[in-house]
Amino acid sequence: METTDMKITIGHLYPDLLNLYGDRGNIACMMQRCIWRGIAADTIEFNTGDEIDFSKLDIVLLGGGSDREQAIVCRNLLEIQEQFKEYVENNGVVIAVCGGYQLLGKYYKTDAGMIEGLSLVDIYTEQEEGRLIDNIVLKSDLVDMPVVGFENHGGRTYLNGNQPFGKVLYGSGNDGKSGYEGVVYKNVIGTYLHGPLLPKNPQVCDYLIQKALERKYGPVQLGPLDDRQENAANEYIYRRFVKE
Ligand code: GLN
Repeated sequence: METTDMKITIGHLYPDLLNLYGDRGNIACMMQRCIWRGIAADTIEFNTGDEIDFSKLDIVLLGGGSDREQAIVCRNLLEIQEQFKEYVENNGVVIAVCGGYQLLGKYYKTDAGMIEGLSLVDIYTEQEEGRLIDNIVLKSDLVDMPVVGFENHGGRTYLNGNQPFGKVLYGSGNDGKSGYEGVVYKNVIGTYLHGPLLPKNPQVCDYLIQKALERKYGPVQLGPLDDRQENAANEYIYRRFVKE
């Protein structure tokens, strides 16, 4: 089957609450990289209270949010927990950033109280003193290039032996101590990297698109795109924070 006969539907969960640091740019990037290849792409926004049919979705994005917004959105997430879990166990693709990443886990314990998570991945987050704020650079086994972004979180995430998204080359990552960042579980990536993540890291974007297409259509070969600008921007950050 030609990729030009394929279609991807992205579900953007709760952009009314989870929308920090241009995380919405991840949607624009996934859409555009599909469209450039002639793959049809569509995004459905689900705001709090909307009904979600996971069987119609190929990629789900959960963005970042403040503690206050996370506490509100957690009530909505718990209502869809069962269907969301089934989607994940059925190899559904998820990209969850920062506050959204924390909500994939069992809980996020803050000074103001406990926020119950989706328990889609066996990880947990606890607020500790000070915020981890800086640019960040990783080496991830999922891609050839360094992964670059920006982090700003008070929560520290503990992986309980799960696979991290990458090894920290510069910055703090999951907890500022382990040297690791994010989590990978089945076709789920959870990460603290804003930026937005995907325009800065086109290979991560293609990784998600590829997984989503393969789940739906079987093995696919994604055609190359002209990523000279994206690669130059990525290389600049790598040199600035790691190499020099
Ligand atoms: N509220 C969370 C924290 O501070 C997540 C913040 C974010 O999404 N940037 O840890």
